[in-house]
Amino acid sequence: MASEALPRRGEFLIKNAHVLTMDAKLGEIAGGDIHVRDGAIVAVGTNLTAPEAQILRADGMIALPGFIETHWHMWGAVARNMAGPTDKTGYFYISRLLGQFFTPEDNARGVRLGLAEAVSSGITTVTNWSHNLLAPEYADEEIKVHQEVGARARFAYGYSRKTPPNATLPLADVARVQKRWFSSKDGLLTLGIAARGPESNSIEICRQEWAFGREHGLPMTSHMGTSMARVKKRQGIQALAKAGLLGPDLVLVHVTNHSAEDLKLLAETKTPVSLSPYTEMRTGFGIPPVGSFLRAGVPVSLSVDTTILCGNADMFAIMKAIENVENALQKNEFAISPQRVLETATIDGARALGLGDQVGSLTPGKRADIILVRTTDVNMLPFTVPARMIVQAAQPSNVDTVIVDGRVLKRDGKLTTIDMAKLARDTAETIERARKEAAKEGSGEGIEGLFTR
Ligand SMILES: [Zn+2]
Repeated sequence: MASEALPRRGEFLIKNAHVLTMDAKLGEIAGGDIHVRDGAIVAVGTNLTAPEAQILRADGMIALPGFIETHWHMWGAVARNMAGPTDKTGYFYISRLLGQFFTPEDNARGVRLGLAEAVSSGITTVTNWSHNLLAPEYADEEIKVHQEVGARARFAYGYSRKTPPNATLPLADVARVQKRWFSSKDGLLTLGIAARGPESNSIEICRQEWAFGREHGLPMTSHMGTSMARVKKRQGIQALAKAGLLGPDLVLVHVTNHSAEDLKLLAETKTPVSLSPYTEMRTGFGIPPVGSFLRAGVPVSLSVDTTILCGNADMFAIMKAIENVENALQKNEFAISPQRVLETATIDGARALGLGDQVGSLTPGKRADIILVRTTDVNMLPFTVPARMIVQAAQPSNVDTVIVDGRVLKRDGKLTTIDMAKLARDTAETIERARKEAAKEGSGEGIEGLFTR
């Protein structure tokens, strides 16, 4: 599945890192080594030797599993910050308006920019929640970018503004894509389905989509509970429950609004949620209720959602928001610990995507998705308590090295599989053109200011 242009996997030994394994048994290892061979973690411990291995010094660095992201509309990355402050310039209006003018190549550039930012920030698994697939070739072009960059990804095949209401998303094309791109068992890229869900579509349509997904071994994801008015109609989680559609193979996004009954149903069925704190707060979906989920036993994972709205894909900031918002909500300094938050960004995220046995912790036998974070930068000094440093102090610029499936995708702060100069030119060209075309189509207050220079 992976492109031949990707870096070689090889064998290496990461030496002398402070290792946060995120593995309940292995815990934290000061002065730790990690032995990687052919994309797998062979051993984690101290004073490891591997005569054949290339040595990767990690003095002064924290090693931890790469972050796992569970909901990101990557095609829109080229429209960063385009969501304006009024109804007719806001996110939903703008993303639809611009999105219709995107070519397959434009979508691909968005995905490449999203992946560049992900890898740069230490996110090793993304969920490409792809909902601007205006024709089959859009899916193909996006998938090619995933192969070219080499980060781990769930490609969640979604609908588009062209998908008619009361119709399923194009399931025949999902089957085509599965056959064309996902027939090998490489595992770096997995396929799923991003459905409109019962709050936006009939439960009968959901039944058909879920039946297709389960028949083809494809996990589902859907937005949910973005307003209390929707929850009161009881056509969301409760409708899914009645139809037997909840379960660990489904990720529900946001759920910032829900009833006590909803929480119980999610916990009983082990249905994970994905919280995107910056877009949830930015759009007024509400305050991410991470503590309510965790206390009820609902699995929690974290996500970017869209940089059209939230500005950047900084998982460190997302974790810090989760910690601070929860403590603020509970009016309690000790409501949630940084360690617990870090779990939601790593092992819990992996489990939410059904990848808990492959990634999410530095456990021998798992795939080698590892990041090294420098602790010698000014915002990290001096070295104190690593989990707190990662959640409260670190930022993407501290990410020195990113390894996915045993391949080095970032080293000494530089990306190895993306030409950043070309990406900068391409993305500028795409947004410039889409803005011009949208300005002809758009209407309303502020539209000219947004689309013309
Ligand atoms: Zn979303």
